[in-house]
Amino acid sequence: MNALVTAVWLSLSLAAVAFAGATPCRVCEKPITGKFYFVDDKARGGKFEICGDCVKLEAHCFACGLPVKSGFTSLPDGRFLCAACARDAVGSDEEAKKICLEARDDLDRLFSRYLRFPQTNIVLTIVDQFTLESLFKSPGYTRKCTAIFGATQSHSIGGRSQIHSINILSSLNKSQLEAVAAHEFGHAWINETLPTSRKATLSPDALEAFCELIAYTLMDDRRAAYQKQAINENPYTRGQLDAFLMAESHHGFNAVLDWMKSGEAAKLDAADPDGVRATQPTESAAAAAALPSYLLNAPPAVLPEKLILRTISGSATKRLAIINDQTFAVMDRTRVRLAKTNVIVRCLEIRPNSVLIRFEASGAKLELFLPEE
Ligand SMILES: [Zn+2]
Ligand SMILES: [Zn+2]
Ligand SMILES: [Zn+2]
Repeated sequence: MNALVTAVWLSLSLAAVAFAGATPCRVCEKPITGKFYFVDDKARGGKFEICGDCVKLEAHCFACGLPVKSGFTSLPDGRFLCAACARDAVGSDEEAKKICLEARDDLDRLFSRYLRFPQTNIVLTIVDQFTLESLFKSPGYTRKCTAIFGATQSHSIGGRSQIHSINILSSLNKSQLEAVAAHEFGHAWINETLPTSRKATLSPDALEAFCELIAYTLMDDRRAAYQKQAINENPYTRGQLDAFLMAESHHGFNAVLDWMKSGEAAKLDAADPDGVRATQPTESAAAAAALPSYLLNAPPAVLPEKLILRTISGSATKRLAIINDQTFAVMDRTRVRLAKTNVIVRCLEIRPNSVLIRFEASGAKLELFLPEE
């Protein structure tokens, strides 16, 4: 595995050194009499005290990063699992695959308004560390995923069709497995969907941050607080995940998606959440083409003074509403430009003839009606 893996997951974080308290050592369980060290449990979260002898142990649990002394499991590929992580590990590859595929189905549900993840054209394999390491080194992985526990490669099979080979490390716990699967499905979606020109300009950090955002959203849905925190604190995207989360909270996931497909910049900037709105003109032209003709005929430069519900379209289960020049699905949150100001609006409900919105600043709700015929 690469240096990052060692740095992020396998090392002890010696956050503090002090003299003994009453707590026993997390590793050998003996009362600590001299110096003790704080270490992070990277599988479940939390900081624990370990003694000066245990801190010198060379073998570490690959999942939580803590040193192992006794009662641990040795995997055939040289990894160790402490007793707690061995209990939590998904031992069977079949079970692990099932969890990953269920995660994919839940992602489809969570992101149903925006995208679908590859479903039939994937080969999902649970691999040991040797295999994963060799994948990281293999030349076919042009845009190899440097995620800690997974790797995805997409092969063209003629025309625009692709097969995605998704490899995930064995013996992870359920939460880790779901987060890694979500990240890798993010790569598969990117490989399948983004134009080659955009893949070429997008920074690798932004690409990884998009996949982390997918994993983060799933962990949020699962209420997996520690996995969310671990994704947040992982320095792996060099700050890009913060910028993605910021852009999403200001402009909604649809804006992030548009930026991924046709953004002007290689990266997002956490200090400028509005930067996500800067997309190539071709995309705006396509969006304009999708608008009803009466909107295209309207004078483009004059912004309305107030919010106007232009039209409602789509089926009863998946309605879309256009308010001023923005398209909303239910729960979309978007900034709408008015003549003299901007308002951030969340669309709460789309009814047959009206929409219920909430102003994010004040929390006030308002029902907008379609114009009279
Ligand atoms: Zn100890
Ligand atoms: Zn462990
Ligand atoms: Zn990745």
